[in-house]
Amino acid sequence: MSEKRQVDERAGKANLHGRSKDDRDALTALCTFSAAKEQINRLMRKAPQGIYHVIMLHIGNISQLTDEYGFAFAMAVLENQAALLRLCFRLQDDVILCRLGKDAMMAFVREEDIGKVESHARLVQEKLQNRYFGRREKLRCRVTMGVFHVPADERDLKRILICAGKAVAYGLRCRIPYVVYGESMAEEAVSEDESLTAEKTDEERRLQYEGNFIAFAVSLLSNTSDLDSSLDMLAKQMGWHFNYDEVLISEFIEDNSTMVSNRWRRGEGVVPNPEEINTFDDWDDFFSGFDKDGVNLTCDVEKGGYSERDLAFFHEKGIGSFINLLLYSNGHPIGYVTCSRKRPVEQMPDRELNTLIQLGKVISSFVALRFQNRRNQEHIETLRRDELTGLYHYGAFQKEVRRALYQCDPGLTYAMVYMDVSNFAYLNENFGYSEGNQLLKDMARWLRYMNAKRCICGRVYADRFVILVTGDSQEAIEQEIRQSVSRFTDYLLHRYPMGDLQVRAGLYYIDNPEAEIFTMIDAANHARKIIKEDYLNHVMVYTERLRQTRADKINVVASIHDAIDKGDVEAYLQPKFSMRTGEVVGAEALVRWHNADGSLKYPDQFIPVLEEVGYIVNVDFCVFRQVLDSLKRWKAEGRKLVPISVNFSRVHFRDQHFSDKVIELLREYEVEPAYIEIEVTESCISGNPLGMVQQMTQLRENGLKIAMDDFGIGYSSLGMLIDANVDIVKVDKSFIDHYETDQEQQYINRIGQLVRAAGKDIIFEGVETRQQVEFLREYGYDKAQGYVFSRPVPIPEFEKWISI
Ligand code: C2E
Ligand code: CA
Ligand code: CA
Repeated sequence: MSEKRQVDERAGKANLHGRSKDDRDALTALCTFSAAKEQINRLMRKAPQGIYHVIMLHIGNISQLTDEYGFAFAMAVLENQAALLRLCFRLQDDVILCRLGKDAMMAFVREEDIGKVESHARLVQEKLQNRYFGRREKLRCRVTMGVFHVPADERDLKRILICAGKAVAYGLRCRIPYVVYGESMAEEAVSEDESLTAEKTDEERRLQYEGNFIAFAVSLLSNTSDLDSSLDMLAKQMGWHFNYDEVLISEFIEDNSTMVSNRWRRGEGVVPNPEEINTFDDWDDFFSGFDKDGVNLTCDVEKGGYSERDLAFFHEKGIGSFINLLLYSNGHPIGYVTCSRKRPVEQMPDRELNTLIQLGKVISSFVALRFQNRRNQEHIETLRRDELTGLYHYGAFQKEVRRALYQCDPGLTYAMVYMDVSNFAYLNENFGYSEGNQLLKDMARWLRYMNAKRCICGRVYADRFVILVTGDSQEAIEQEIRQSVSRFTDYLLHRYPMGDLQVRAGLYYIDNPEAEIFTMIDAANHARKIIKEDYLNHVMVYTERLRQTRADKINVVASIHDAIDKGDVEAYLQPKFSMRTGEVVGAEALVRWHNADGSLKYPDQFIPVLEEVGYIVNVDFCVFRQVLDSLKRWKAEGRKLVPISVNFSRVHFRDQHFSDKVIELLREYEVEPAYIEIEVTESCISGNPLGMVQQMTQLRENGLKIAMDDFGIGYSSLGMLIDANVDIVKVDKSFIDHYETDQEQQYINRIGQLVRAAGKDIIFEGVETRQQVEFLREYGYDKAQGYVFSRPVPIPEFEKWISI
């Protein structure tokens, strides 16, 4: 029995009366609305006490399907959905199914049990919704269902349908797929005419392929952006139309091998990505089965003269009869279409055979086109990939990520990872470029395996890689990356024991998939940079705290110049005391930044950042000018003058005119050089930046003093201390913090003696208690600076120590 006839019978069971061809919608084979109206009225008259329900279905994105795959495809989807609807109601009596307008369908049901109606309707909605057409999964049908339980006193069909329509409209508006009509939906707008009586378009009429399957096929294939999906649909429609059990399209991929690229099977439907490879032992034998038209028709495999082996194959696949049609391009066979039935047939009607031969030609050109498209795609793909590693170029990577996130699954977690290998230059320098390249290739392979099939990998440049990873949770992703990174680092350590090579990965969880891809990469990269030289930690996650610190940093850099101009950057002074006389013998200038809200920013909040970008230079000179300005004023006011020390960052010594600038400023403010000390940290001096020695010498020759700051926390040897080109040594707070034991005291004292022996002045910083003062005094030291005497204070406040 043909599929068509089976369908007729099912529909017949549902239809109570009359079924002339005009009562039927040609595309979906459901009742037309006018026929349904009569039937419904008849049913309600026949059983006036019956309990009735309307289940109305709206297939939402038909126009989207039309755009992607063409009109014929979209219509085929409607037809398919209608067939499924019939199937869902096949066992129920007193059901009238009809098509309303273009993309809506309805079931009018008589049923006592409301619960049964609802659970069934819900099931139908899910079934229709969960089917997807086309290989791009995002193109599922959006199915909205409205259910209306007809009250016993309501028999006006128009009003009944409007209520069901309102439920659908409500569902569409609120994006709820299943809605039962309720009072609250009374205001919902439905246009009655449109939803109920819309005429079929001309195009649709032309597509009624009853007599012209070829025209349908051409229309289906010529108007699509996805040939794979449209060929799937064609295979399916062929199966239905000619009543086959299986339809396949296979392509020749190389000698002796074919690949099944489209497959539809009755009961199973379309197989999404068959891509099954078959290899033939005897290729010539395979070709000899075709006649001059490229047709191999076997009405009964048992009588076809096939070998035992072939027969076994047919039995295994359950094939009783089949027709193979060769596909050609430019006169060369490129594949074939197989249509098979489980049972043998008497013969194939001429009309069917002729249609199939024509179809073969149509399919040929589109399979050839698909082949060409694929080749183009592959070509484009190679352009998108990095030759060395085979990973995406940076630009292509970003596009791929955009696409993946566009279709992201809200149930999964996505993260951006930025990786590099520390000390990678070691390889190129010591082993040559080929070794470096080999490692990059190894890394690329490792990256691809890391997150198995769930990642997209790209190479930024050199040893820098970016990866989009997918996982079930943040924890799962982090664990996976950590394990993987430490495994690869172990491998590096094993392979290059002296290389100090390690993988570092910055990880950023994507909270907004629509954000700029660049900012995600940037965040991951930022996290990676934080790792720096941490030997134990190879993975850093970009956290809210990190984001905040970074934002603060950027803010500092962006606003420092403004702050200097507005006078928000102020020099404070911390006095230095003589422990012998109790007098102020000097001061250190320390910078403070006034926030708009009246609070202060302390140096550790902005100096490191400004050193990174070099803007510290402006800050130091700003402080220096305030100090010079004060000294000048004090002199004019006749105050006691004491030397003031100013901190100068190591960054200054990159500028060979630094010392000239300092001397020039002294002249400008008419301040004697003896009143200025330049504080430079011990680590800076021991690092000995190029040109530093000359500059320090020049400054000293001009009468300024140089102080070595933070002595004791750097790594310089004592020998180096003696040689150092400085006048004063400032012993770091950490020394004086521990003076309790004999040993500690001896140590401090030995250093003090050495400094003195080298002819340098010594001062202790960070003195906080009376006891510390006593200890230092006992050992004969004089100068100290610390909270025990005074905190850093604004200049006017400092002036109380140097009264007129
Ligand atoms: P530093 O040069 O070692 O300055 C001494 C720091 O110790 C100051 O912190 C000071 O307030 C603090 N201090 C002084 N006595 C005590 C004490 O008894 N106990 C404790 N716990 N701390 C004490 P501040 O002002 O926060 O400055 C921190 C660092 O920032 C300075 O360390 C210096 O390296 C840098 N800095 C400050 N001002 C400037 C500047 O104008 N230019 C440059 N380049 N660096 C500056
Ligand atoms: Ca200092
Ligand atoms: Ca210091």
